[in-house]
Amino acid sequence: RIYLDWNATAPVLPEVRQAMVDALSGVHGNASSIHREGQAARAVVERARRAVAGAVGAPAQAVVLTAGATESNNQVLRQHARERADAYIVCTVVEHPSVLETVRALEKEGVRVAYWPVDRQGRLVEGWLDERLAEGATLVSVMWANNEIGNIYDVAAIGEKVRATGAIFHVDGTQALGRIPVDFGESHIDYMTLSFHKMGGPKGIGAIVTREGLKVAALLSGGHQERGRRPGTENVPAAAGLEAAARQLAADGESWQQALRQRREAFLAALNAEVQGFELRGDTEHQLLNTLNVAFDEVDGEDLLLAVDLEGISASSGSACTAGSLEPSHVILAMGFEAKAARRSVRLSFGPATPQEELARAARILGAVVKRLRTMPAL
Ligand code: PMP
Repeated sequence: RIYLDWNATAPVLPEVRQAMVDALSGVHGNASSIHREGQAARAVVERARRAVAGAVGAPAQAVVLTAGATESNNQVLRQHARERADAYIVCTVVEHPSVLETVRALEKEGVRVAYWPVDRQGRLVEGWLDERLAEGATLVSVMWANNEIGNIYDVAAIGEKVRATGAIFHVDGTQALGRIPVDFGESHIDYMTLSFHKMGGPKGIGAIVTREGLKVAALLSGGHQERGRRPGTENVPAAAGLEAAARQLAADGESWQQALRQRREAFLAALNAEVQGFELRGDTEHQLLNTLNVAFDEVDGEDLLLAVDLEGISASSGSACTAGSLEPSHVILAMGFEAKAARRSVRLSFGPATPQEELARAARILGAVVKRLRTMPAL
């Protein structure tokens, strides 16, 4: 099979798998216990924290481990709304549902919010944020890279503006890891939320990275784990995998980018050679190298995905968190496409380990399937 859905989740790196197996078989203590087994588990968790910190240029004490980016996003946004009577939260219209739906829920509870619009390429409308900041926005949430169209947002420039007003800047860095350089300290970020499973780490573990001096309040009540910021017994095998993923990222991140660039160029050339009539969506000038959002003329995205699945290709039409809803992508709709046109979007996302030969074969299969679907009456 040809797996082109890395933005939903990536295959687990061999080093990650090994670290998790070792932890599962060799470390059974509870990281809060003071005996030797507990200390061994604690060591795994603290190594993971240091590795995450090292991979994103932050001090270890800045890292709170959570159960993934969805939880991290909820925690940062809900904490802000709870603690600030004057909360005024701004997020982009293209955020992942774990941000967007949280902000919508807070809006229903009476919190003042605003949604930063985008243009037809998914670029943030210029000047819009300045007005919201002037109105007193207290928190701005912008993803570093978009999961559906791959757009990379200039978080350093946005962060500078936000910082100048004293508002809080939250960045969801989940899709950026392993694909572009991610430096927490350089980007005026207050809270960065992360998950490592899009680059070969384990699912179900993530982090909040916090600027020094800012607090992180727990979302749940319970024990004192993560210094009271995230109660619940630590997931030690996942922490072991997280450490391995973060170490690989620090060691290989640059070579991954090169591998992605080669693959993107070859894949685009093959698509152009094999397929007639398609459009690339998103800001192709500022886009993750591993992500192509493609709309094939006259072909419905779901029809195409079902047909290529039978031919051995796994891809998706958008966020896995909304897959199956049959609603067109909120991202493509926000870019101004009509529902029918939005439904043509197919997301092809790959990784540095995707064999080049598979991308060439995928382009041939896509060409043949698109041709066939165009001659068939609509389902
Ligand atoms: N943010 C973005 C941009 C994502 O792509 C995802 C994963 N679909 C998430 C957050 C949620 O991450 P997790 O799966 O760790 O909850």
